Amino acid sequence: MKISFSGPGASTLVPDGTPLDDALARVTHLGIGAHQDDLEIMAYHGIARCVGDDARWFGGITCTDGAGSPRAGAFADFSDEQMKEVRRDEQNEAARLGEYGAMVQLGLPSDAMRSPEQAGLEDDLFMLLERMCPRVVYTHNLADKHETHVAVGMAALRAMRRLPAASRPREVYGCETWRDLDWMVDSDKVAFDLSPHENLQAALVGVFDSQICGGKRYDLATQGRRRAHATYHASHGTDESTSLAYGMDLTPLVQDAGLDPWAYVSEYMDRFADEVKGRLAGLQGEGGSK
Ligand SMILES: [Zn+2]
Repeated sequence: MKISFSGPGASTLVPDGTPLDDALARVTHLGIGAHQDDLEIMAYHGIARCVGDDARWFGGITCTDGAGSPRAGAFADFSDEQMKEVRRDEQNEAARLGEYGAMVQLGLPSDAMRSPEQAGLEDDLFMLLERMCPRVVYTHNLADKHETHVAVGMAALRAMRRLPAASRPREVYGCETWRDLDWMVDSDKVAFDLSPHENLQAALVGVFDSQICGGKRYDLATQGRRRAHATYHASHGTDESTSLAYGMDLTPLVQDAGLDPWAYVSEYMDRFADEVKGRLAGLQGEGGSK
């Protein structure tokens, strides 16, 4: 069946050549990211769970067209159109390397998706979610500091809420890209152990040469953050993993369409504030601060 997307720049890739409808229908773990490379930075847990397993397939959705990418070095003189092509090819290369079940790039301009009135993004995501029916979804956390990331996370949330309750994903996680989730209290953290296949992690982020060459060492930074989380996760005992990523559980927001996103996220912030406040209060003794 022919699929139509809201933007003219959309593209699909099925690395193993399965017909697109079947490829979408088999997706069990779905990543929804704003930019080319966001999936590899934030949804590696899902990618790794599906590699080499015929019962699980990772689906990738990248929403923007890559036109606004910074460029330097070998890419310094590239036009927006050339950058779009380079970034689309890099994302497809990662999909092949990570054996994704299907890779969809919506090719939307990033400024078009920051307005909630622009329904194209949400409609595209809803249409794909209906065809995929994933059990697990990874998207941007709603406290990320990049507005386009949050816009994509919110559109993904609205699209999932449009599904019949029984068809909604059973697990939905907000993941780390521009702002990690180490600030959450430990009991709120969903910790993804990424220790196996560290070579694959490095390769997946390393594919995005135009960004790394553009002056941002996402390859080193992503590995470094995962390593730091692994060591700083627990202060006692030895490291149990060598690579860790954090997620915020967004499942309640998807299951309960009446739950306000800000009210939900602010509870995490309140628990963080309470932890810091409680510790300081405890150390100031009966007299309080003087
Ligand atoms: Zn991004």
